Amino acid sequence: MFQTTFALKTNDKIEVIDITKKIEEIVRKSKIEDGCCHIFLPHATAGIILNENEKGLMEDYVKWLKEFFPKKEWKHNLIDNNAEAHLMSAFIGQSILIPIKKNKLVRGTWQDILFIEFDGPRSTRKVFVQIHAII
Ligand code: ZN
Repeated sequence: MFQTTFALKTNDKIEVIDITKKIEEIVRKSKIEDGCCHIFLPHATAGIILNENEKGLMEDYVKWLKEFFPKKEWKHNLIDNNAEAHLMSAFIGQSILIPIKKNKLVRGTWQDILFIEFDGPRSTRKVFVQIHAII
């Protein structure tokens, strides 16, 4: 088993960041040939998806999230005014699992690993990566 954590800095309220290369580098370093890569965010106002990093689509994700979760009078907004960010995170999810074969992530051509900030900017977002070997 191999574990590591890395940090991200976000600059916008809602922002999509491609972390594919970083995850691929971690998989290489793990030297694990066959297994699975679990990527987990210890956050309740961020999310992770497997989808295409195409310039227009990267903007569409942000537009879609804003339209899908409009500013409303959610009860949590009375506490710290970020209910929409929590709801986006609950909907999108904070963890993904990707198979590893011959020390490489098994993913489709258009499946990039995208971290999504829902309540930025934040100086330190953490990404926890755990790689399990199949024995
Ligand atoms: Zn909150």
